[in-house]
Amino acid sequence: MKVIGNPTIQTPAIGIFGGTFNPIHFGHLRMAQELADALNFDEVRFIPAANPPHKNSLSISAEHRAAMVHLSIQNNTNFSFDDRELHRAGASYTIDTLLSLREELGMKASITLLMGSDAFTKFDTWHRWQEIIQLCHIALVQRPQTEANKLPNILETFLHNHYTEHSDDLHTTPAGFVTMRQVTALDISSTAIREAFKHGHSARYLMPDSVIEYIHAHKLYK
Ligand code: ATP
Ligand code: MG
Repeated sequence: MKVIGNPTIQTPAIGIFGGTFNPIHFGHLRMAQELADALNFDEVRFIPAANPPHKNSLSISAEHRAAMVHLSIQNNTNFSFDDRELHRAGASYTIDTLLSLREELGMKASITLLMGSDAFTKFDTWHRWQEIIQLCHIALVQRPQTEANKLPNILETFLHNHYTEHSDDLHTTPAGFVTMRQVTALDISSTAIREAFKHGHSARYLMPDSVIEYIHAHKLYK
């Protein structure tokens, strides 16, 4: 709760979680929940990518992927849905999303980008990646079955220069730190889920029932 007139003015701390979410699963949801708790976020915003630059030919429309994200998080008061990438033409670059979030939230809000280790190993290929850390913090989690120690040198240096283990650093500054947290390791991927649906296997207990029902109702991943 924010106390009006409190001399130590608290700015909100927001986590942002982007991905293709094709489809969303408990690996995504649990990781976001545990980071929200560990890092004390006021809110985690899920931002589905419309045209992710690193993935070609997505068979499932952005509207369906977004609808599944929406269904998954609607009962969680800490989670919110942000459709700004869906309304932007061209590739969905994180730098553009951050610039647009800064316009909305101002330069003082603490914004932390949530990321799995597999995504971070390719972070140096992201559009204007070195500017991203000027606009947000980054919170990393180790994703099971990915090799954490295979970081390119440039990212090792980046990590070293920005690393903190103190969650306070993320609250007292708007951007600039990278931290890592352990979360419950769930070896779940959208790729494996798509395969399961393709073969007529069940995806129960890997993702919310509401999303499974949505997939069946719209005959996705056949
Ligand atoms: P795909 O298999 O299609 O690549 P995915 O399961 O990897 O899908 P993405 O939408 O690519 O999901 O991932 C979005 C973000 O969520 C990335 O930062 C990724 O590292 C993270 N993530 C995905 N699955 C997990 C998981 N099981 N545990 C922790 N982080 C995850
Ligand atoms: Mg992935």
